[in-house]
Amino acid sequence: MKPTIGFIGLGIMGQHMAGHLIDAGFPLIGYDIVEVALANAVARGARPARSGQNVASQADVIISMVPDSPDVENLVLGEAGIIHVVRAGQVYVDMSSIAPHTAIAVARRLAQQGVRSLDAPVSGGEVGARNAALSIMVGGPEDLFNEMLPIFQCMGKTIVLCGDHGAGQAVKACNQIQVALNFIGMAEALVLGTRLGVDPGIIIKVLSGGYAQTRVMDVRGPKIIAGDFAPGFRSRLHFKDLNIIMQTASELHVPLPATALAHQLFSALLAAGKGDLDHSAVITVLEALAGIEARSPSSGQV
Ligand code: NAD
Repeated sequence: MKPTIGFIGLGIMGQHMAGHLIDAGFPLIGYDIVEVALANAVARGARPARSGQNVASQADVIISMVPDSPDVENLVLGEAGIIHVVRAGQVYVDMSSIAPHTAIAVARRLAQQGVRSLDAPVSGGEVGARNAALSIMVGGPEDLFNEMLPIFQCMGKTIVLCGDHGAGQAVKACNQIQVALNFIGMAEALVLGTRLGVDPGIIIKVLSGGYAQTRVMDVRGPKIIAGDFAPGFRSRLHFKDLNIIMQTASELHVPLPATALAHQLFSALLAAGKGDLDHSAVITVLEALAGIEARSPSSGQV
Protein backbone atom coordinates (compact mmCIF):
# COMPACT_ATOMS: atom_id res chain seq x y z
CA MET A 1 0.00 0.00 0.00
CA LYS A 2 1.22 3.50 -0.84
CA PRO A 3 2.20 5.69 2.10
CA THR A 4 -0.06 8.61 3.00
CA ILE A 5 1.63 11.89 2.12
CA GLY A 6 1.08 15.14 3.99
CA PHE A 7 1.90 18.12 1.78
CA ILE A 8 2.38 21.51 3.46
CA GLY A 9 2.68 24.62 1.25
CA LEU A 10 0.51 24.52 -1.88
CA GLY A 11 1.72 27.67 -3.65
CA ILE A 12 3.13 28.15 -7.15
CA MET A 13 5.29 25.01 -6.90
CA GLY A 14 3.57 22.91 -4.24
CA GLN A 15 0.17 22.87 -5.97
CA HIS A 16 1.65 21.08 -9.02
CA MET A 17 3.95 18.79 -7.02
CA ALA A 18 1.08 17.67 -4.77
CA GLY A 19 -1.13 17.27 -7.85
CA HIS A 20 1.33 14.81 -9.44
CA LEU A 21 1.42 12.74 -6.24
CA ILE A 22 -2.39 12.59 -6.20
CA ASP A 23 -2.39 11.59 -9.88
CA ALA A 24 0.09 8.80 -9.06
CA GLY A 25 -2.38 7.37 -6.51
CA PHE A 26 -0.80 8.51 -3.22
CA PRO A 27 -3.40 9.36 -0.56
CA LEU A 28 -2.55 13.05 0.09
CA ILE A 29 -3.47 15.37 2.94
CA GLY A 30 -2.84 19.02 2.08
CA TYR A 31 -2.40 22.17 4.13
CA ASP A 32 -1.70 25.80 3.33
CA ILE A 33 -2.23 28.90 5.47
CA VAL A 34 -3.86 30.55 2.43
CA GLU A 35 -7.43 29.25 2.08
CA VAL A 36 -7.63 29.47 -1.70
CA ALA A 37 -4.41 27.47 -2.12
CA LEU A 38 -5.87 24.71 0.06
CA ALA A 39 -9.22 24.85 -1.76
CA ASN A 40 -7.44 24.39 -5.12
CA ALA A 41 -5.61 21.32 -3.80
CA VAL A 42 -8.85 19.86 -2.45
CA ALA A 43 -10.43 20.38 -5.88
CA ARG A 44 -7.50 18.39 -7.29
CA GLY A 45 -8.17 15.48 -4.88
CA ALA A 46 -6.32 16.33 -1.64
CA ARG A 47 -7.88 15.78 1.78
CA PRO A 48 -7.77 19.08 3.70
CA ALA A 49 -5.95 19.47 7.01
CA ARG A 50 -6.38 22.23 9.60
CA SER A 51 -2.73 22.78 10.48
CA GLY A 52 0.79 21.44 10.07
CA GLN A 53 0.30 19.35 13.21
CA ASN A 54 -2.96 18.00 11.81
CA VAL A 55 -1.03 16.89 8.70
CA ALA A 56 1.77 15.34 10.73
CA SER A 57 -0.58 13.35 12.92
CA GLN A 58 -2.08 11.59 9.86
CA ALA A 59 0.75 11.24 7.32
CA ASP A 60 3.51 8.65 6.86
CA VAL A 61 5.63 11.04 4.79
CA ILE A 62 5.45 14.80 5.48
CA ILE A 63 6.58 17.07 2.64
CA SER A 64 6.95 20.84 2.99
CA MET A 65 7.24 23.44 0.20
CA VAL A 66 7.14 26.77 2.03
CA PRO A 67 9.05 29.99 1.32
CA ASP A 68 12.00 30.41 3.70
CA SER A 69 14.15 29.07 6.55
CA PRO A 70 12.07 30.69 9.35
CA ASP A 71 8.93 29.13 7.82
CA VAL A 72 10.48 25.66 8.01
CA GLU A 73 11.83 26.31 11.52
CA ASN A 74 8.36 27.43 12.66
CA LEU A 75 6.57 24.61 10.92
CA VAL A 76 8.80 21.95 12.45
CA LEU A 77 10.22 23.36 15.69
CA GLY A 78 7.84 26.22 16.58
CA GLU A 79 5.25 26.33 19.37
CA ALA A 80 2.70 24.68 17.08
CA GLY A 81 5.42 22.74 15.24
CA ILE A 82 5.08 19.21 13.96
CA ILE A 83 7.90 18.14 16.31
CA HIS A 84 5.29 17.97 19.10
CA VAL A 85 3.14 15.36 17.31
CA VAL A 86 5.48 13.29 15.12
CA ARG A 87 5.99 9.56 15.75
CA ALA A 88 9.08 7.40 15.33
CA GLY A 89 9.14 5.89 11.84
CA GLN A 90 7.67 8.90 10.06
CA VAL A 91 9.63 10.65 7.30
CA TYR A 92 10.01 14.41 6.75
CA VAL A 93 11.13 15.79 3.38
CA ASP A 94 11.63 19.54 3.06
CA MET A 95 11.60 20.63 -0.59
CA SER A 96 11.71 24.39 0.11
CA SER A 97 14.94 26.31 -0.58
CA ILE A 98 16.40 27.18 2.82
CA ALA A 99 19.77 27.69 4.54
CA PRO A 100 21.89 24.49 4.68
CA HIS A 101 22.54 24.98 8.42
CA THR A 102 18.78 25.20 9.10
CA ALA A 103 18.22 21.95 7.17
CA ILE A 104 20.89 20.24 9.28
CA ALA A 105 19.46 21.57 12.57
CA VAL A 106 15.93 20.46 11.67
CA ALA A 107 17.14 16.99 10.62
CA ARG A 108 19.05 16.54 13.91
CA ARG A 109 16.08 17.60 16.04
CA LEU A 110 13.68 15.28 14.16
CA ALA A 111 16.13 12.39 14.49
CA GLN A 112 15.83 12.74 18.28
CA GLN A 113 12.13 11.81 17.85
CA GLY A 114 12.97 8.86 15.57
CA VAL A 115 11.91 10.76 12.43
CA ARG A 116 14.17 10.34 9.39
CA SER A 117 14.47 13.28 7.03
CA LEU A 118 15.84 14.61 3.76
CA ASP A 119 16.41 18.09 2.36
CA ALA A 120 15.27 18.00 -1.27
CA PRO A 121 15.07 21.45 -2.86
CA VAL A 122 14.21 21.71 -6.52
CA SER A 123 15.07 23.60 -9.68
CA GLY A 124 13.13 23.96 -12.91
CA GLY A 125 10.61 26.63 -11.95
CA GLU A 126 6.86 26.52 -12.27
CA VAL A 127 7.15 24.96 -15.73
CA GLY A 128 9.27 22.13 -14.32
CA ALA A 129 6.79 21.65 -11.47
CA ARG A 130 3.82 21.61 -13.83
CA ASN A 131 5.50 19.10 -16.17
CA ALA A 132 6.90 16.89 -13.37
CA ALA A 133 10.34 17.64 -14.80
CA LEU A 134 12.07 19.20 -11.78
CA SER A 135 15.69 18.70 -10.83
CA ILE A 136 15.64 17.47 -7.23
CA MET A 137 18.85 17.76 -5.20
CA VAL A 138 18.79 15.66 -2.08
CA GLY A 139 20.72 15.66 1.19
CA GLY A 140 20.48 12.82 3.70
CA PRO A 141 21.06 9.08 4.10
CA GLU A 142 21.20 6.94 0.96
CA ASP A 143 18.72 4.29 2.17
CA LEU A 144 16.07 6.94 2.80
CA PHE A 145 16.85 8.56 -0.58
CA ASN A 146 16.19 5.19 -2.26
CA GLU A 147 12.98 4.73 -0.26
CA MET A 148 11.69 8.15 -1.32
CA LEU A 149 12.75 7.81 -4.97
CA PRO A 150 9.29 6.66 -6.21
CA ILE A 151 7.82 9.82 -4.65
CA PHE A 152 10.49 12.09 -6.17
CA GLN A 153 10.02 10.44 -9.57
CA CYS A 154 6.41 11.67 -9.64
CA MET A 155 7.67 15.27 -9.50
CA GLY A 156 11.07 15.34 -11.18
CA LYS A 157 13.37 13.91 -13.80
CA THR A 158 16.92 14.65 -12.57
CA ILE A 159 17.05 13.33 -9.02
CA VAL A 160 20.47 13.31 -7.39
CA LEU A 161 21.71 12.41 -3.91
CA CYS A 162 24.24 15.18 -3.23
CA GLY A 163 25.54 14.09 0.18
CA ASP A 164 24.44 14.12 3.82
CA HIS A 165 21.88 16.45 5.43
CA GLY A 166 22.23 20.01 4.06
CA ALA A 167 23.97 18.93 0.83
CA GLY A 168 20.78 19.33 -1.21
CA GLN A 169 20.47 22.90 0.06
CA ALA A 170 24.16 23.52 -0.66
CA VAL A 171 23.70 22.52 -4.30
CA LYS A 172 20.52 24.61 -4.50
CA ALA A 173 22.57 27.64 -3.34
CA CYS A 174 25.04 26.95 -6.19
CA ASN A 175 22.11 26.77 -8.60
CA GLN A 176 20.73 30.12 -7.46
CA ILE A 177 24.12 31.82 -7.94
CA GLN A 178 24.27 30.67 -11.52
CA VAL A 179 20.64 31.56 -12.31
CA ALA A 180 20.95 35.08 -10.83
CA LEU A 181 24.13 35.78 -12.78
CA ASN A 182 22.61 34.42 -16.00
CA PHE A 183 19.69 36.84 -15.59
CA ILE A 184 22.02 39.77 -15.02
CA GLY A 185 24.27 38.84 -17.97
CA MET A 186 21.24 38.57 -20.23
CA ALA A 187 19.85 41.86 -18.93
CA GLU A 188 23.08 43.77 -19.58
CA ALA A 189 23.34 42.29 -23.10
CA LEU A 190 19.76 43.26 -23.93
CA VAL A 191 20.11 46.79 -22.51
CA LEU A 192 23.35 47.52 -24.37
CA GLY A 193 22.10 45.99 -27.63
CA THR A 194 18.88 47.98 -27.42
CA ARG A 195 20.84 51.21 -26.80
CA LEU A 196 22.87 50.38 -29.93
CA GLY A 197 19.61 50.29 -31.87
CA VAL A 198 19.18 46.53 -32.33
CA ASP A 199 15.78 44.91 -31.77
CA PRO A 200 16.19 42.80 -28.56
CA GLY A 201 14.17 40.06 -30.27
CA ILE A 202 17.03 39.75 -32.78
CA ILE A 203 19.60 39.63 -29.95
CA ILE A 204 17.74 36.76 -28.27
CA LYS A 205 17.38 34.88 -31.55
CA VAL A 206 21.10 35.04 -32.30
CA LEU A 207 22.41 34.45 -28.75
CA SER A 208 20.06 31.49 -28.27
CA GLY A 209 21.69 29.66 -31.18
CA GLY A 210 25.30 30.06 -30.03
CA TYR A 211 27.65 29.74 -27.06
CA ALA A 212 25.68 32.34 -25.07
CA GLN A 213 22.56 30.15 -25.03
CA THR A 214 21.07 29.64 -21.57
CA ARG A 215 17.85 28.06 -20.26
CA VAL A 216 17.14 31.39 -18.57
CA MET A 217 17.15 33.14 -21.94
CA ASP A 218 15.15 30.37 -23.64
CA VAL A 219 12.38 30.48 -21.04
CA ARG A 220 12.32 34.13 -19.99
CA GLY A 221 13.95 36.13 -22.81
CA PRO A 222 10.83 36.34 -25.01
CA LYS A 223 8.68 37.27 -21.99
CA ILE A 224 11.11 40.01 -20.90
CA ILE A 225 11.08 41.78 -24.25
CA ALA A 226 7.27 41.51 -24.28
CA GLY A 227 7.24 43.21 -20.83
CA ASP A 228 5.71 40.12 -19.17
CA PHE A 229 7.03 39.77 -15.61
CA ALA A 230 4.26 37.62 -14.09
CA PRO A 231 5.85 35.09 -11.67
CA GLY A 232 7.23 32.17 -12.18
CA PHE A 233 9.67 32.63 -9.39
CA ARG A 234 9.08 35.69 -7.27
CA SER A 235 11.97 38.17 -7.00
CA ARG A 236 11.58 38.24 -3.21
CA LEU A 237 12.27 34.50 -3.09
CA HIS A 238 15.42 34.82 -5.20
CA PHE A 239 16.53 37.69 -2.93
CA LYS A 240 15.92 35.32 0.01
CA ASP A 241 18.21 32.76 -1.67
CA LEU A 242 20.89 35.40 -2.29
CA ASN A 243 20.70 36.37 1.40
CA ILE A 244 21.24 32.71 2.35
CA ILE A 245 24.16 32.45 -0.09
CA MET A 246 25.90 35.66 1.04
CA GLN A 247 25.49 34.83 4.73
CA THR A 248 26.72 31.26 4.29
CA ALA A 249 29.69 32.37 2.15
CA SER A 250 30.57 35.12 4.61
CA GLU A 251 30.59 32.66 7.54
CA LEU A 252 32.96 30.43 5.55
CA HIS A 253 35.14 33.31 4.24
CA VAL A 254 34.35 32.43 0.64
CA PRO A 255 34.37 35.63 -1.44
CA LEU A 256 31.58 35.78 -4.06
CA PRO A 257 32.10 39.19 -5.72
CA ALA A 258 29.72 38.66 -8.65
CA THR A 259 26.98 37.25 -6.40
CA ALA A 260 27.43 40.24 -4.09
CA LEU A 261 26.59 42.50 -7.03
CA ALA A 262 23.57 40.34 -7.89
CA HIS A 263 22.47 40.64 -4.25
CA GLN A 264 22.58 44.47 -4.49
CA LEU A 265 20.68 44.54 -7.80
CA PHE A 266 17.95 42.30 -6.36
CA SER A 267 17.87 44.53 -3.28
CA ALA A 268 17.20 47.51 -5.58
CA LEU A 269 14.46 45.52 -7.32
CA LEU A 270 12.70 44.89 -4.01
CA ALA A 271 13.19 48.54 -2.98
CA ALA A 272 11.34 49.49 -6.19
CA GLY A 273 8.35 47.46 -4.91
CA LYS A 274 8.80 44.66 -7.45
CA GLY A 275 9.30 41.71 -5.09
CA ASP A 276 6.24 39.89 -6.39
CA LEU A 277 7.31 40.11 -10.03
CA ASP A 278 9.28 37.29 -11.64
CA HIS A 279 13.04 37.37 -10.95
CA SER A 280 13.62 38.20 -14.64
CA ALA A 281 12.41 41.69 -13.63
CA VAL A 282 15.95 42.38 -12.37
CA ILE A 283 16.46 43.76 -15.89
CA THR A 284 14.26 46.72 -14.90
CA VAL A 285 16.96 47.85 -12.43
CA LEU A 286 19.56 47.92 -15.23
CA GLU A 287 17.07 49.55 -17.59
CA ALA A 288 16.45 52.31 -15.04
CA LEU A 289 20.22 52.91 -14.76
CA ALA A 290 20.59 53.11 -18.55
CA GLY A 291 17.37 55.05 -19.12
CA ILE A 292 16.14 52.62 -21.77
CA GLU A 293 13.77 49.65 -21.94
CA ALA A 294 14.66 46.47 -23.84
CA ARG A 295 11.22 45.81 -25.33
CA SER A 296 10.69 44.44 -28.79
CA PRO A 297 7.97 45.23 -31.32
CA SER A 298 8.68 41.76 -32.79
CA SER A 299 8.58 39.95 -29.40
CA GLY A 300 5.68 37.77 -30.52
CA GLN A 301 7.81 36.32 -33.34
CA VAL A 302 10.85 35.19 -31.36
P1 NAD B 1 4.78 30.40 -2.93
O1 NAD B 1 4.89 31.60 -2.07
O2 NAD B 1 3.99 30.47 -4.19
O3 NAD B 1 4.23 29.14 -2.08
C1 NAD B 1 4.54 28.89 -0.75
C2 NAD B 1 3.25 28.48 -0.05
O4 NAD B 1 3.55 28.11 1.30
C3 NAD B 1 2.22 29.60 0.02
O5 NAD B 1 1.00 29.17 -0.54
C4 NAD B 1 2.09 29.90 1.53
O6 NAD B 1 0.80 30.29 1.90
C5 NAD B 1 2.47 28.55 2.10
N1 NAD B 1 2.94 28.58 3.49
C6 NAD B 1 3.85 29.40 4.06
N2 NAD B 1 4.03 29.07 5.36
C7 NAD B 1 3.20 28.03 5.60
C8 NAD B 1 2.91 27.26 6.76
N3 NAD B 1 3.50 27.49 7.92
N4 NAD B 1 2.00 26.27 6.65
C9 NAD B 1 1.38 26.02 5.48
N5 NAD B 1 1.60 26.73 4.36
C10 NAD B 1 2.51 27.72 4.44
O7 NAD B 1 6.28 29.96 -3.24
P2 NAD B 1 6.80 28.92 -4.34
O8 NAD B 1 7.21 29.69 -5.55
O9 NAD B 1 5.87 27.78 -4.46
O10 NAD B 1 8.18 28.47 -3.63
C11 NAD B 1 8.20 27.55 -2.54
C12 NAD B 1 9.66 27.20 -2.26
O11 NAD B 1 10.24 26.62 -3.44
C13 NAD B 1 10.54 28.40 -1.90
O12 NAD B 1 11.51 28.02 -0.96
C14 NAD B 1 11.20 28.75 -3.24
O13 NAD B 1 12.43 29.43 -3.06
C15 NAD B 1 11.38 27.37 -3.84
N6 NAD B 1 11.43 27.32 -5.32
C16 NAD B 1 10.55 28.02 -6.08
C17 NAD B 1 10.63 27.94 -7.47
C18 NAD B 1 9.70 28.72 -8.40
O14 NAD B 1 9.99 28.83 -9.60
N7 NAD B 1 8.58 29.28 -7.91
C19 NAD B 1 11.61 27.15 -8.08
C20 NAD B 1 12.46 26.40 -7.26
C21 NAD B 1 12.37 26.50 -5.88
